[in-house]
Amino acid sequence: MPNLSQLLTTKSSVEYKRVFEHCRDISNELDGVDGVYIVGGIVRDLILDRAPGDIDLSVVGDAKAFSQELAARTGAASPDESQFLTFKIRTSGIFSDVSSIDVVTARAESYADSAALPDVSVSSIDDDLKRRDFTVNAMAISLAGSDWGTLVDPNNGFGDVMRKRIKVLHDSSFVDDPTRIFRAVRYAVRLGFKLDSRMNELISKSIANIDRLSGTRVRNEFELVLSEPNRVEMLRMSEEIGLLAAISPGLRIGTKALQVLSEQSESDSVELPDLLAITTFGLNEDEANQVVQRFDAPPASGESITGNAQLAKHVAVLDQPNLAPSEVAEILREIPLASINAYILAGPPLPRRDKLVEYVEKIRFIKPEITGDDLLEIGIPQGPIIGQLIDVVRRAKLDGKVSTKQDEIELAKSRLPGFLAK
Ligand code: ATP
Ligand code: MG
Repeated sequence: MPNLSQLLTTKSSVEYKRVFEHCRDISNELDGVDGVYIVGGIVRDLILDRAPGDIDLSVVGDAKAFSQELAARTGAASPDESQFLTFKIRTSGIFSDVSSIDVVTARAESYADSAALPDVSVSSIDDDLKRRDFTVNAMAISLAGSDWGTLVDPNNGFGDVMRKRIKVLHDSSFVDDPTRIFRAVRYAVRLGFKLDSRMNELISKSIANIDRLSGTRVRNEFELVLSEPNRVEMLRMSEEIGLLAAISPGLRIGTKALQVLSEQSESDSVELPDLLAITTFGLNEDEANQVVQRFDAPPASGESITGNAQLAKHVAVLDQPNLAPSEVAEILREIPLASINAYILAGPPLPRRDKLVEYVEKIRFIKPEITGDDLLEIGIPQGPIIGQLIDVVRRAKLDGKVSTKQDEIELAKSRLPGFLAK
C-alpha cells in the first residue's frame, strides 16, 4: 500500500494537521480503538489538492470513546450521537476551516430493499469502504501511529482519481440507493470527472427507483445540487440523464432559467427560495404542484415553487399604464417575493417588469405609521373596523395621499362614519 503521510503533513492546513495528530495520539492511547482513518471525500480532495470539506473519520472499535476523547482534546463540546454509532463533533467555534468532525464506527451495510435505509453491522475498514458510493470516495488513510499515512484502497479509487472518472463499486449500487444518482452528477461536475462508461446504462436501469425515495430525501439531494457553485452544469446533466423527469414528470429547466442561473452562479449568496423559484420558472400550476407534493416541501420552499404560476396569472395587469402603487401592492400582496424576483430576472422585458422592481425595492416597504393602538386611543371601537381603517390608511400612504402620522389619524377619523354606517 502506498504511504500518503505527505498529504497529511504538507498538504493539510494547520487545523487539519492538528486533528490528525490528536487522532494518532488517541489511537495509541485508547485500548478499545484498533484503527482510525480519514475516509471518503477528504481523502479524495487531499489527493486532488482541493480544499477538503469537513473531516470524516472511521474508527475500528470504540468510536464513542474515541470521539469523546477527540472532542475533549480539540476543546469541543461532547459529541452528539447523530445516527447509529455515528458521532458528530461540532468545531465551528474552534476551527476556522473545519465546522464538524464526523466519526463513524467502521461498518458493513446491506440493503433489504431498494431505496430503504441500510441494515448496519460493526465491521472492518475494508467493509466500511465497500458500502460507499464511488471508488474515488472509497479510500481511507490510516492515522494510527503504527501505519500513519497508509492508503487503504481496495477498489482502486486512486487510479480513478488519476483517470478522472466516477465509478460505482458494484452494479446494483444505484438500485440500493438511488440518491447516488444525484451524487454522481454532483461529483462529476464538481470535480470535472467523467462518468465511467457503464454508469449511463446503470443509471438508466435504476432511474425509476428515484420514485421510491421519500420526499425529504429527494428534496435534500435536489437542494444540494442547487447549493453548488456549478449548479447550472449539474442541472443540465440531471435533465440529460432523465433525473429531473424522474423526480417529477413536469420538472425541467427552461433555457431562460439556465441563462439566469449561469449569470448568478459566481455568487454564492443567492438564497434557496430564490434558487427554487428560478429553477422552476416556466412550470405551469399543475406541474409546480406536483413538484411540491413530490418534495413534501415545507411551506417556505413550496411557495417558491408554486408562486411563479400564481404570479403568471396576474402579472399582465401590471402592464396597464397609470396603475397606482396601492393597486400594484394589491395585485402582488399574496405572491412570494422569490417568485417576483424570479420573474424580474427571467420574465419578458415588458412594462410589468418595472412595476415588479418598484414593488420589490420600494412599495412593499411602505407601511402606515399608525397602529391599532393609536386608533383605540382616539376612541375607535375594538373589532374588525380597526384593520379596515388601517388598510385605508395604508393605501392612502402608498399613493402619497398622506404623509405624517397626524394625516393618517385624520384620514382614519374622517372615514370612521362611513364604516360605522355599513
Ligand atoms: P462533500 O465534499 O460533498 O462533503 P463527501 O465525499 O465528503 O463530499 P459526504 O456526503 O460528506 O460526501 O459523505 C462522506 C462520504 O460518505 C462519501 O465520500 C462516501 O464515501 C460516503 N457516502 C455518503 N453518502 C453516501 C451514499 N449515499 N452511499 C454510499 N456512500 C456514501
Ligand atoms: Mg463531506
